[in-house]
Amino acid sequence: MPDGGPSIVSLPKVSLHDHLDGGLRPQTIVELADEIGYELPVQGGADALGRWFVENADSGNLPDYLKTFDVTTAVMQTESGLARVAHEFVLDLAADGVVHGEVRWAPEQHLRGGLSLDETVEAVQSGIDAAIAQLADEGHEISVGQLVTAMRHADRGLEIAQLAVRHRESGVIGFDIAGAEAGFPAGNHRPAFDLLAREFFPVTVHAGEADGLDSIRGALIDGRALRLGHGVRIAEDIRVVESKGEQTTVELGPIAAWVRDREIALELSPQSNLQTGAIAAWGRDLDDHPFDLLYQLGYRVTVNTDNRLMSDTSISKELALLTQAFDYDLGDLQAFQLNAAAASFLPLEDRDDLADRITAGFEAA
Ligand SMILES: [Zn+2]
Repeated sequence: MPDGGPSIVSLPKVSLHDHLDGGLRPQTIVELADEIGYELPVQGGADALGRWFVENADSGNLPDYLKTFDVTTAVMQTESGLARVAHEFVLDLAADGVVHGEVRWAPEQHLRGGLSLDETVEAVQSGIDAAIAQLADEGHEISVGQLVTAMRHADRGLEIAQLAVRHRESGVIGFDIAGAEAGFPAGNHRPAFDLLAREFFPVTVHAGEADGLDSIRGALIDGRALRLGHGVRIAEDIRVVESKGEQTTVELGPIAAWVRDREIALELSPQSNLQTGAIAAWGRDLDDHPFDLLYQLGYRVTVNTDNRLMSDTSISKELALLTQAFDYDLGDLQAFQLNAAAASFLPLEDRDDLADRITAGFEAA
């Protein structure tokens, strides 16, 4: 924002794509590792560890980026570890001005300490509930829903979908698949998606990040996704035709047209997209990100962190970087928040309330 304008942190924001195991505080990892006797990859305390995550996540490809999660998930194998991480995750969202957050994570990766799938979901929910109550006492109202994730490379999709539906009255508001994308199509989890469709349970799918249009097609057809995790490579289906002296025209392929016209939200995460190489076809800098093209064309773009620890980021930071890259003003930032509110997996009344809260917050700024 221009100097003298409102701080982005103070504006009401919505976070749709934020991994629980990518948002730990480095100091918490140090303490939890100490409790369970887990050897960290780097000594020297929280600062050194924080830097290690950012450096190692800066790999240029998704599989290497994902290796840093071995460390975070290692300290999230107990009820108390999961609850603490979830509690702090929500406090950190609130400190960044987030008023609605959707936190995704994969229960199947948290069973090594002997917890059942249901117990992991309950532990995370207890941390979320405690944080919401603490924040309410401090005068900050926030809503948070869990998105339960199945890992693409594993074969527990159906079980995880059942788990998500089982907890739909107790905090779980959506389903996702994540992990290595190329070579692991959404169609592998078709039985899970069929169950979710029969249960009318909302789905988002990581797609169009480390793989292209075929993966997005799978997310839409097999996954019946209402949102795309990143989805940035939808831009491969958009042709910008520059004609001399004439207006530039844009041609959308059928997938790009479907995603725009049906308002399938794109959960874009600018810095993460740079780190994983998701936008390598367009360039290496934030200015090269197709974010602005997609926004100008009317896509339901939303701004997300993906992994706050690995990208050393927050929604406010992502918005500040986009503002610098594309010269956005307060109205643009408000549009991204209203997009996210509209795309959230909350019931309509709650989404309307959220939109009102965002509008009031931006108008007061
Ligand atoms: Zn993600």
